[in-house]
Amino acid sequence: MWVNELLSYWLQAPWAIALVMATCVHMTIYFAGAGLGSYFTSNLWPRLHLGQTIDTHPPRPKQVMGEIRNGIVACLVFGVISLSYRALCTGLWPASWPMGLLQITAFVVFNNVYSYATHRMLHSRQLIRIHRVHHHSVRVTPWSGYSVHPVEAVIIGATLPLFMLVVPLGIGTAFLLHALGMLFTTCIHCNYDLMPNCPDGNWIKRLVDDPGYHRLHHTRGNVNYGFTSRAMDRLFRTIG
Ligand SMILES: [Zn+2]
Ligand SMILES: [Zn+2]
Repeated sequence: MWVNELLSYWLQAPWAIALVMATCVHMTIYFAGAGLGSYFTSNLWPRLHLGQTIDTHPPRPKQVMGEIRNGIVACLVFGVISLSYRALCTGLWPASWPMGLLQITAFVVFNNVYSYATHRMLHSRQLIRIHRVHHHSVRVTPWSGYSVHPVEAVIIGATLPLFMLVVPLGIGTAFLLHALGMLFTTCIHCNYDLMPNCPDGNWIKRLVDDPGYHRLHHTRGNVNYGFTSRAMDRLFRTIG
């Protein structure tokens, strides 16, 4: 399979080639994800009367250009950090499906705790200067997800290598998890509610971080710190 051949080549390639390849992969996911997100939420879905825009104000002038600049730097940081996967990974894929599911579940739990803890830290008096770059986007766009300070990009990018120090992953699983994380980040910044008639008590809205939920973090600043699920916000009573 060409994916396996590519992954095997990447694992053995000289570091400079591996860096260029990894950065290209991150850029592709970022531009494809946010580009398609922009097209769906500002064009296709409104035309099909599917869901609704949450904040109807337009972004600030030149906001999107600034977000894309920050996003490109974040992709470069992720490219550098992904080189650490080469030292930490075990082969390409997990030995079996149950093992793969176990690894993914453990990572989702770890990611929820790690991202909540680091996000709360980034809101401390000492670190808010770094995190303010992300909060410049009050009216979020699909490009806002990776509009972060390079130091914050390092904190985000470190999630997988830190997890892999304890639970070694195949390189395919590691890239898949990182790619899905990038796409999810893009989704929660897309300023679009696909289920506007879904009541707040619905189990999806009680469990999963969605664009409306994360938008409230950008507008209020002191609620809804969680990533992917609302569990940590419920636990620490920071739900908005
Ligand atoms: Zn924040
Ligand atoms: Zn955000």
